[in-house]
Amino acid sequence: MSLSIIGRSIAESVTLKLNETAAILRAKGEPVIHLGIGEPKSKAPLDAIVAAAGILNSGEVRYTPADGIPAMKQAIIRYTGDMYGRIVSPLNVIASGGAKQSIMVALQAILNPQDEVVFPAPYWVSYPEMVRLCGAIPVPVLPEDGSFYPTIQDIERVCGSHTKAIMINSPNNPTGVVYSEQFIQEIVEFSEKKGIYLIMDDIYHRLIFNGKRHVNPLKYVKGSLEDSKIILINGVSKQYAMTGFRIGWAVANSKLITCMTNIQSHQTSGPSVVLQVAAVAAINGIQSGVTSLCQTLENNTKVMMDELNSFEGVRAIRPDGTFYCFVDFSHYNKDSSKLAYFLLDKVRVITVPGKEFGLDGHLRLSTCGSIKDITSGIERIKWALDPNSPNELFIGDRKLVRDWL
Ligand code: PMP
Repeated sequence: MSLSIIGRSIAESVTLKLNETAAILRAKGEPVIHLGIGEPKSKAPLDAIVAAAGILNSGEVRYTPADGIPAMKQAIIRYTGDMYGRIVSPLNVIASGGAKQSIMVALQAILNPQDEVVFPAPYWVSYPEMVRLCGAIPVPVLPEDGSFYPTIQDIERVCGSHTKAIMINSPNNPTGVVYSEQFIQEIVEFSEKKGIYLIMDDIYHRLIFNGKRHVNPLKYVKGSLEDSKIILINGVSKQYAMTGFRIGWAVANSKLITCMTNIQSHQTSGPSVVLQVAAVAAINGIQSGVTSLCQTLENNTKVMMDELNSFEGVRAIRPDGTFYCFVDFSHYNKDSSKLAYFLLDKVRVITVPGKEFGLDGHLRLSTCGSIKDITSGIERIKWALDPNSPNELFIGDRKLVRDWL
């Protein structure tokens, strides 16, 4: 079979594959603990459900403008005003099939083959593949000091004449860290000085805790949005537990948004009106679900960190946002894929290998599940790896025997 060069270069989504594996094992009655999960467990807001049901009941489910229905654009404009203190126009806004599609069409609108896109590592698994889909070159950069906090010097070090864009995700998937105000200011100023695009993936910006605060990048954009190359990405997936609704958006200068709209119009004709109506209702509706999700995540993260701190040999940097912990297991196995499959095989715990995020020796553990998932999941991992842990482990009434330590 002859497949395209780009097609052949794209790897499967490991995180989606793990969800599938968990579902298959659970269907067989296996006692799987899914610490690989990347979505809140709470239900979508009632406002969203009622609104979606309303339009479905009307039977009037039609094509929409490719960049979003007017109500969706108005909701995004209000959101941007409330959260970022900037009044933007409908021409500055596009709604897409998830933040993922917003990022994808933005990259397609700005990249030529061989252009480079710089982003800090560890990074969200899709960034390198999305850049490759454009025939461009991903340039991940690990902070030189070994932390999860990049500095402007780290970024400057790899930026050259081929750099077309920088992509920043804070709070960060997979580390959960929130980049400092100083770094955000410096990166906005650096991109402006260089005249390169800056994609701010703010998908987790309301899921911050431990007293930390979101840094608003638009605060440091000196001129008007029309003269800026900043692209602000957001969506309903994480903050409203609406991952399956597939609505995200971008805010940027109108020339770029028009180009993104043209691309999107030929790709998907825009997101479904049913899902847009639901997203509008979530954005304009009662916001208490976001606050309670944040509180749950803060609590779950604390439990996860307590468990990890008493785990001999592992190292974890405290997350201040998102629902992930990115944990150094290199003491036990430097190959994170082998380790993840070992844990799945031996103790039925799903984790995501750090290799997928650009840093081997680590596993991404999720705090989206219940406290019981977290404590039992870590207990099982400890039992599988740490020779000092008790010899026996019961999973339900199944007694496990450890014959590999
Ligand atoms: N950016 C990051 C950093 C993410 O983690 C995700 C989802 N895993 C997305 C973007 C895409 O979100 P959406 O569901 O809106 O496509």
